[in-house]
Parts: sequence; C-alpha cells; structure tokens
Amino acid sequence: MSLIERITKVGDAQVWYDNMPVESVYTVGIAGERFLRAIKDQGAIMGTVCPTCNLTYLPPMMYCERCFAELEEWVEVGTKGTVYSYTILGVSLEEEPLEEPQILALIRMEGVHGGLVQRLGEVKPEDVEIGMAVEAVFKPQKQREGSILDIEYFKPV
Ligand SMILES: [Zn+2]
Repeated sequence: MSLIERITKVGDAQVWYDNMPVESVYTVGIAGERFLRAIKDQGAIMGTVCPTCNLTYLPPMMYCERCFAELEEWVEVGTKGTVYSYTILGVSLEEEPLEEPQILALIRMEGVHGGLVQRLGEVKPEDVEIGMAVEAVFKPQKQREGSILDIEYFKPV
C-alpha cells in the first residue's frame, strides 16, 4: 500500500510489531536536587518559603503556585510530622502478594503546605491512625544515594 492510498476497510490497515530504541533521562529539577541532597548529606528535610503568601512548600518548589514569585528561601521543616492519610498495600507493583502488608502514608509537617508520601515502619497496620505523630528514619549516611528512599520510613514517635 502506498502513502497516497486511502484505507477504506479497517482490515486493510497494516500493523507492525517491533521495539523502538528510546532512552530518557529524568531529572528531579533544581529544587528536587537540593531537596534530595539535603536528605543525603544532612539527614534534613527542606522546604521553600513564599514570604508573600506565608507558605512553606514541601516538597520544595522553585515558584509559588499562588503568586508565582521565585522562591529563594530554604528552611528545614524538621523530621517529625503527622499521618494525614494512609493506605495499606497487600500486593506489589508487579501485582504479587506481599508477605507482609506495607503502609503508605501522606505525612504532613507542621506549618507546611504539602507533605511527603512515605512508608510507615515499626507499626502494625491496625495501629495506624490519622493524626498519629511520626518521625523520619533515615538510612545510615554511607548507604544514602540521593533518593527519596534515603528516608527508609516514618515511625511512630
Ligand atoms: Zn506566594
């Protein structure tokens, strides 16, 4: 079939199955890199501040989503927060049953706009509560890779 031919029946369309060699590199951006470096190097969780809107963003943002100002002030937001919401996972991303259920929670730090989605540890699923005080548990410094997973989990305080 040439390019100028029109397909009038669906069955006339040709299908080609193959692989396309595509590579990509994902970057976390300027704010994301500084955020992950602080976790890796200092065991600190950082946010950015909009003094006009009186908001501290976590994860940090380069621009305020309300007034669009460039955010240049960075602050530590601490390593303690509260469980804002959570879910219990029974299967992996590969849809395999997990030997032990995992708990994912949205953790909010005091006075911060946003939060972190992280695993909870050192707690049974039936003991998790909304509003529960939790604290970040970091990997030992030599094992940190500059990933959000350098925070192994949050545990009850
Ligand atoms: Zn603002």
